[in-house]
Amino acid sequence: MIEKITPNRIDEIISAEIPDIEIDKDLNDIVSKNMIHGPCGSLNNSSLCVSDGKCTKRYPRDLLAKTITSNDAYPLYQRRSTEDG
Ligand SMILES: [Zn+2]
Repeated sequence: MIEKITPNRIDEIISAEIPDIEIDKDLNDIVSKNMIHGPCGSLNNSSLCVSDGKCTKRYPRDLLAKTITSNDAYPLYQRRSTEDG
């Protein structure tokens, strides 16, 4: 049986959050400039990811306090709100 990756291990490798500008301004700048999807959907219907007025990449995505895994889908990555830290 193959051991499945845990949410904690995913969080050690992948982050879907914008780095804290107070901790690492350079990384925050790089991620903000190069790694943020959009604008699309109602903000930009001419974006290549938009079909029938909706983003085909499913953005914007919901905020999540913790990364979630399942047996049959991609993980849902932690995207904390300001209330969640
Ligand atoms: Zn999009």
